[in-house]
Amino acid sequence: MRHSRNRIDHSARDPRETPARGERPGPALPPAAVRALQLQRTAGNQAVSGLLAGHLPVQRTLAWHGKPVATYEDLPQEDRDRIKKSIDAVYGMFVQPVIEAMIDDRRIHRVTVGLAVKEIPKIIDLLFEYEKNPPKPSPDNPRSRIALQLLEKQQEAKKLNSKVKTSYAETVSVPNLREFNRFLDTNPAFVDYLTKAGIRIFFRSKSANNIGGLYTHADRIVHLEPGVEGERPGIFLRLLLHELGHASFQRMLMTTKPDALNQDEQAFRDAWTVLRRNNGQYLLGLDLGRGRQPDERRKYQAGDFMEFCAENFMHRVTAPGLLNKHLMTINKPGNHVPQDVRDAWRDAIVILDKYVRLLLR
Ligand SMILES: [Zn+2]
Repeated sequence: MRHSRNRIDHSARDPRETPARGERPGPALPPAAVRALQLQRTAGNQAVSGLLAGHLPVQRTLAWHGKPVATYEDLPQEDRDRIKKSIDAVYGMFVQPVIEAMIDDRRIHRVTVGLAVKEIPKIIDLLFEYEKNPPKPSPDNPRSRIALQLLEKQQEAKKLNSKVKTSYAETVSVPNLREFNRFLDTNPAFVDYLTKAGIRIFFRSKSANNIGGLYTHADRIVHLEPGVEGERPGIFLRLLLHELGHASFQRMLMTTKPDALNQDEQAFRDAWTVLRRNNGQYLLGLDLGRGRQPDERRKYQAGDFMEFCAENFMHRVTAPGLLNKHLMTINKPGNHVPQDVRDAWRDAIVILDKYVRLLLR
């Protein structure tokens, strides 16, 4: 019985094709980043590298002993242990956040074990100072930028936890924290729903390893797999809102009293029965990154009614323009879209919007 099912898996990507970033040793960097790294090495020119870094939408690169790395996990375990052994215990818990902030910084940092040991305490002392007196204006040197980034992350994670219960929010990149906070700020009714329903978000959850995300009904936890917290902001918010779609729209639609027939669920399911034909040919699929291409997203929704619920909730919330454009294409006079497909989309949108109006205010 579907209501007793407590795990909804989310095969967001094929694990064979797309290992989580942490499992990849680092050679597969975007060409622009590789070029910037090479240029920086040869020119050794801060201005040039800064200029190039400006063209990279998301940096996520660091030169570790001359080798490009994209996550803290890309650093050899031996090096991580050596740093922790060589610095004062007070700073031990900051090794990972500092390295991650360096990876996220708009300039490419060239770091060695020795430099990390020397720099981390200085950066953290600066962070402690900034916690008491945030500098105005913000100094623009590498050490200050890293400390300010850590300060902002602390503030954004704190802000997020004041609205929704989370685990490991401090591992989420600053742009992603900022974007999710902005979304929650503009939708207080959604925050209210999450609080009342007791929904918790678990970032870097091993339960979601290799499947992107997962919502477990029994304990009402949204899980995001390690690596998603550092995705580009648009992708991060969509993957998160898909899982929150299971926890909200789908949960409301499918949580019925045993004696009451939920007509909304029936109508939405009837629409899905039509739209799932031919691998969901007329469904909307967005590009959610490697291993999560539009065709895969359509097939995914076609194969499971609950994925159809979660994905379209995410579309309505994070990409209303693209959903509307899709509906206009479906309904364009004179095209060859079957009438029952047009009708099914019309019925599905009525239900979806009814719940979205309740949840997002
Ligand atoms: Zn799902």
